[in-house]
Amino acid sequence: MQFLDLTEHHAAIEKEALAALATVFKNGDFINGKAVSEFEKAFATHHGVSHALGMNSGTDALVLGLEALGIGAGDEVITSAFTFFATAEAIAQVGATPVFVDIDPATFNINPALVEKAITPKTRAILPVHIFGQPAHMDELMLIAKNHNLKVVEDACQAVGAEYKGKKVGGFGDVGCFSFFPSKNLGACGDGGIATTNSPELAAQMKLLKSHGSSPQDKYFNIALGYNTRLDTMQAAILAIKLPHLNEYNEKRAVHAQAYNEALSKIGDCVVPVPSADTKHVYHQYTFRTSRRDELKKHLDELGIPTMIYYRVPLHLQPVLKYLGYAEGSLPETERACKEVISLPIYPELSAENRTAVIEAIRSFFA
Ligand SMILES: *Cc1c(COP(=O)(O)O)cnc(C)c1O
Repeated sequence: MQFLDLTEHHAAIEKEALAALATVFKNGDFINGKAVSEFEKAFATHHGVSHALGMNSGTDALVLGLEALGIGAGDEVITSAFTFFATAEAIAQVGATPVFVDIDPATFNINPALVEKAITPKTRAILPVHIFGQPAHMDELMLIAKNHNLKVVEDACQAVGAEYKGKKVGGFGDVGCFSFFPSKNLGACGDGGIATTNSPELAAQMKLLKSHGSSPQDKYFNIALGYNTRLDTMQAAILAIKLPHLNEYNEKRAVHAQAYNEALSKIGDCVVPVPSADTKHVYHQYTFRTSRRDELKKHLDELGIPTMIYYRVPLHLQPVLKYLGYAEGSLPETERACKEVISLPIYPELSAENRTAVIEAIRSFFA
């Protein structure tokens, strides 16, 4: 059993994907090809937003989103420390300061009450992460943003297709950022990412930044210092084939999650992820807690059951972010989560037999 089996995941679409790649070969439009604009349109429609801009990665989508909003040196951006490093890296890369607030232990997402307390005259934006595919508390966060005149950039890299009160995440804030890293719920066969927005101005600004700041009128007339970040035509062609299957992929993940929830909630001191009634969790990871995490992980390793720890080191304690000055103990719920969480295999094609084997291995530990 593998933690994630991408070979199995792609088997069903392989023929179609290879045919799509053959078309790209035939057209020769490897950069900014037809498949890219078509996929951007399809992705925007699927998400109910007016603009989607393909990029090289989810990290680039975060960087360009922040930069398009004019966020940089001297600005503070409030975010979570219980996430993948890229979230805070993007904030720091544009020259701004990440300000970490603690999480709500029930959802692993930033606690809106603490966001409000962290606002200073330098705060420019809130950057919620829909961690593991569970939507952040968007009503509360959007209200805080409105009351304090702050921008919102959503890190939806783990939450493609997730919904909050019937609306897809990534469409609440000024910019939504998605990753097509192969392991994500909608993965490319290589790197890729996309930024969404409903603002024509922000879309134009991101478009400018993603292509060397080249003037829309004249490519060789540069009006901004930008980047070279594009969604590859071949990746777009593959993603266009996978996008119509996204709901089905996410539903299969939810079936696994429900089976894990039912079993694990009755085993030992396991605390399972219970989605709130008004959210659609897409289970990028199935992550639960136990006070005996390290012992459990060792037991599962010995039985050949693949597991991962997302995340062992919170961002406020990462060596490179020491300059921000956070001490151990400053974000108690985040730090407790880092000691208690463990993630189980949950890709769509995971077999019921393997899922049961995972559950039984956990049961044998607590027996
Ligand atoms: C994967 C991920 C990213 C970055 O995506 P890349 O495409 O790998 O750059 C950013 N934030 C979170 C929360 C992620 O999980």
